[in-house]
This record gives sequence, structure tokens and C-alpha cells, in this order.
Amino acid sequence: MGETPAFFADNLLGDYPKKDDSKSKANVTAIVVGSKLYVIDGVDHESGSTIGVRIFDKSSGKLISPTVLGTKPEPSKHHSAVLLNDDRVLVVRGNSSSSECFWFLEVGTPFVREQEKALGNEVVAWSKGVLGNVEKPIVISGPSGVGKGTLISKLMKEFPSMFGFSVSHTTRAAREKERNGIHYHFTDHNVMEREIKDGKFLEFASVHGNLYGTSVEAVEMVADAGKRCILDIDVQGAKSVRASAFDAIFIFISPPSFEELEKRLRARATETEEQIQKRVQNARAELEQGKSSGLFDHILVNDDLETCYEKLKNILCRSEDVNSAPKTFPESIDLSSEHSVSKIDQKLLINCSAVEHEKASNNMYVLDLSLLKGGAPGRTRGLNMYANGDNQLSSNITHPRT
Ligand code: ADP
Ligand code: 5GP
Repeated sequence: MGETPAFFADNLLGDYPKKDDSKSKANVTAIVVGSKLYVIDGVDHESGSTIGVRIFDKSSGKLISPTVLGTKPEPSKHHSAVLLNDDRVLVVRGNSSSSECFWFLEVGTPFVREQEKALGNEVVAWSKGVLGNVEKPIVISGPSGVGKGTLISKLMKEFPSMFGFSVSHTTRAAREKERNGIHYHFTDHNVMEREIKDGKFLEFASVHGNLYGTSVEAVEMVADAGKRCILDIDVQGAKSVRASAFDAIFIFISPPSFEELEKRLRARATETEEQIQKRVQNARAELEQGKSSGLFDHILVNDDLETCYEKLKNILCRSEDVNSAPKTFPESIDLSSEHSVSKIDQKLLINCSAVEHEKASNNMYVLDLSLLKGGAPGRTRGLNMYANGDNQLSSNITHPRT
């Protein structure tokens, strides 16, 4: 294989519009992973509104347009790309605000492999990188009427800037007080089935005779708002999520008794008698699964609401991830000019000094990748960034490993 990534990138550029050839080439990077070349274009020439990705398969000689999952980064006039661990590419976008600089293009992570199996197509997935430690999402399950919604509402009311609700899709009819896009995305069975086939869902299940599912976009929207995601899903959904690459804390809410569960369902008065009976019957199996399978990290009995809520808060305030990475970017960061990147071990050196030479010493940053967590679907957490001289940068530059 004598050809370089640049050779392929140049040849792949052949069918792109060439109004300004030099600019369009500077805007494309190519990364080799095994027998595939991932070509990342600052502008997706089909949509024009995102960064584009195509795959050149060297063994078949074919150019493939993969299914692209996750929230996509906006177009960028200049970007750099570096391969990490053979399964994801770090894309550093120039000309962007600091919170939009770092994106991961997953090309072989467990989530991507899973989706490839499900969709029967090449898949890549975007995940935005965030500094510091946005904590793991929370999956809350339990039988209908046990009080999940009540507990989640209390949490969102008390900590509106900390938690965000993943708005599910459902084919059931909206209840009187429910609003589309807030409580659920109410949808049609055929539409939802098609979207499931297109890989838009992290999980889905048939519950009490209707289809329910968590879209990748719903989870990403919460992550993009910088909040910790809460999913209210049934036990089947929790099982699917547990088996997936989505890293979360799983909490099961149990009723004090069946009689009390039935009483709450009736008092809520949102279902017909027939539907209440169906939900109570299903609750038996859900309780057995919830308690016996080791699926859940925590089981809480919702007898007295305030007591249960306090216990829930205790679980969520426990810090499982010890990560000292700061949550803000260095104030001086400026990636508006062209930049170059080089990787040494788990650190990325970003040099933004090409244009303003006299400021060179102020324009070098280190991105520490050693504490990366999470990924698609959702954000990649734990990035740590500091300016030249602020930390161990000088030792890394003077003693690079070969
Ligand atoms: P879910 O979301 O699990 O289906 P809800 O949150 O809608 O359940 O709660 C069902 C009904 O039970 C609601 O009317 C709610 O006000 C009530 N409820 C919730 N928790 C308690 C509790 N600990 N004690 C008594 N009633 C409760
Ligand atoms: P309800 O109709 O009462 O809103 O919800 C019925 C059940 O569906 C609840 O157990 C709830 O947790 C579950 N559910 C809601 N959204 C989802 C989802 O996106 N996926 C799955 N698997 N279950 C869901």
C-alpha cells in the first residue's frame, strides 16, 4: 500500500465542486483505519450544513456513504483529524467557539459495531467532546404507576440546570395534559418502525400494547445542553440499554405492594379500566425481572414519596467518577486561525501559532485524553485542556517518545 491518505483525499476530491481548489483541499482530511480510508470533509456537499464523511474501502475499491449517527458538527473551514485507538478519530475544528472545537468520529467503537449489525450498513457516529466530568446518564425503570414520573419531576424541579429528561417516542395516544415534544414525541406506528430501521433509536420496546423508544437524538439533546440525562424506560428497554455500549446507572423503582400500585394507577385516572388491568398484570413480570436479574444497580421502594426521593438524590449525588479535569476551557484559547496537531501518548499538542507568529508561545495548548469516558450516543466526557506552560506540557515536548 504505497498510497498516502493525502493521495486518496486528492483523488476523492475529484468529484467535489472545485471553485477554489486550494481551500477545498485544506478542508479535507483522510484517516486510514485498517483497509478503510475515512475522508472527512469540512462541508458535507450533500447537505451543506454539516461536516461530511465518506469511506473509501481499499479492498473493494468502493467509495461508501456511511450511515452517520449522532448530532453532527457544523461545517468548518479548517479542521485537523487524529486517529485514537483505531476506533475513533478526534476532529479539532478551527473557526469555532471553544465548546465546539472537539468532536469524536467513532468508526469502530462497540456502539458503531452494534449499529452496523442492526442496520447492515457502514456506520460512523459523531460525539462531541466535553471538558471535565458530566456524569453518567440515569436509567429509571419500574412498573406503570409506581411513581417514576413523579420522582423525575421533583428532580428536574429542584435541579433544573443539572438534569435533562430524554423525551421518548411513543405510538400511544397523548393523555389530556401531555404535550408533544415535552412528555413524549407522539408518533405513528409506521413512522416509528421506519425510524427504528434507520438506526435512529438507542432502544425501543413494545409496552402495554404500544411502541416506545429512546431516540439517539433525544439523548444527544440533553447532553448538548450540558445536562445529565434521565431516561424513564421499561424493563425491556433497560435490558437493551444495559447490553449496549451506553454507559449508565440503572435504578429500579418498586411499589410497596400490588394493592398500592393499583390504587395509584386508579387515582391517576389516566387509563381505562381495561388498560389499568393490563398494566397491573404486566407489573408482576416487571417486578420479577427488576428484582432478580441483577440488571439494576439500585432498587428503591417508593412507599413514602419524600423518603424515596431523598434516597434517589443520595444515589445521584454520589460521585463514582473521580476526575479532576477542569470544566472550562483556558480563557485564552483561540482556534480561529489555522492550527496543527500532534499526538504524544495520550496528549494532543495543538499549535495555533501559524498565523500570528509573535504570539506563538501563548498559542499552544495540550489536550489530555487519558480520562476519556462515554461517547456516542451522547458526549465524550473527561477532556482536560491546558495552555502551554500551565502543566506538564514542557516535559512532553522536550522528551517525546519515539
Ligand atoms: P409512573 O410514572 O411510574 O407511571 P406516576 O409518577 O405517574 O407513575 O405516579 C402514579 C400516581 O401515583 C400519580 O398520581 C402520583 O401522584 C402517585 N404517586 C407517586 N408516588 C407516590 C407515593 N410515594 N405515594 C402515593 N402516591 C404516589
Ligand atoms: P406511560 O404510557 O405510562 O407513559 O409509559 C408506560 C411505560 O413505558 C412505562 O413503564 C415507561 O417507563 C415506559 N417507557 C416510556 N418511554 C419509554 C421508552 O422510550 N422506551 C421504553 N422501552 N419504555 C418506555
